[in-house]
Amino acid sequence: MLPSPLTQIFHPDVSMKGIRLFMKRDDLIHPEVSGNKWRKLLPFLEAFQESGKSELLSLGGAYSNHIAALAAAGRMLQVPTVGIIRGDAVSAENATLTAARANGMKLKFVERSVYRQRNEADWLAELQSAHPHAFVIPEGGSDPLALTGVAGIVEELGQEFDILATPCGTGTTLAGLLCAVLPDVQVWGFSALKGDKNLGSRVQSFIERSPEKAVIPRWQVWDAYHFGGFARWTPELIDFIRSFRQHTGILLDPVYTSKMMYGLFDLIRKDVVPPGSRVLAIHTGGLQGWNGFRERFGIRIP
Ligand SMILES: *Cc1c(COP(=O)(O)O)cnc(C)c1O
Repeated sequence: MLPSPLTQIFHPDVSMKGIRLFMKRDDLIHPEVSGNKWRKLLPFLEAFQESGKSELLSLGGAYSNHIAALAAAGRMLQVPTVGIIRGDAVSAENATLTAARANGMKLKFVERSVYRQRNEADWLAELQSAHPHAFVIPEGGSDPLALTGVAGIVEELGQEFDILATPCGTGTTLAGLLCAVLPDVQVWGFSALKGDKNLGSRVQSFIERSPEKAVIPRWQVWDAYHFGGFARWTPELIDFIRSFRQHTGILLDPVYTSKMMYGLFDLIRKDVVPPGSRVLAIHTGGLQGWNGFRERFGIRIP
């Protein structure tokens, strides 16, 4: 569903500060190809059409939202897909990869030590020669090409905000927003990783390589809301997700959007978000991640 809906969030912690908080519901774009993964895939799918290649190939971890999205998109577009998965075939039984396979994706497993070379030119050249008909999409859709897809979020808005907030993994979504918003908007990224020292420089280099580069607005990365690291959690986070759902009816994912909203509410409480601001948080999707949480930790959707 595009454009994705814009929902106002009514919550006492927010209204107390005279803040108007909205959420861009990219989680509702599609049940499987949700959120920023769809936004980031779009420009690649267009480039694929022009490429003369006949299949789509990408890489990811065993619970990757990106792999889930690519498999579902391939099924919809009737294009064969290949997933290069970090780890061994034991993980092939998990919900994410079972769904990917059901969507027709061919899976290949590579050891962690090998997977580490995924951004090296030699390794990529080898991958391409092993799959000559494949159009290769980098892990997580992390490429300057993806920025134009993310810009769609801003194009759909039609109103102004003081602060935009997004969760960050690779930082591609943050960079895409930075290239698209007006210069007087602040853009905040909430890192889902612990101690990711390179996030800032990755965002910077995306912006520099972007054809859309114009005046870049002020931006900031918040890195203290990772709850122990990528895909880690605490009971406090799960309680927050439950309470947010009770107040708003909106389900957050356990890896990205819940940590962003927890952080944003913390910054609202501490008046780091200036009282009276208009704030937009991007619900980047990722709800398929709950399947992995149920399997790994026995946590059901709160
Ligand atoms: C992948 C993902 C992100 C991170 O996006 P980046 O562009 O890699 O920073 C955020 N939210 C969700 C739900 C995701 O699946």
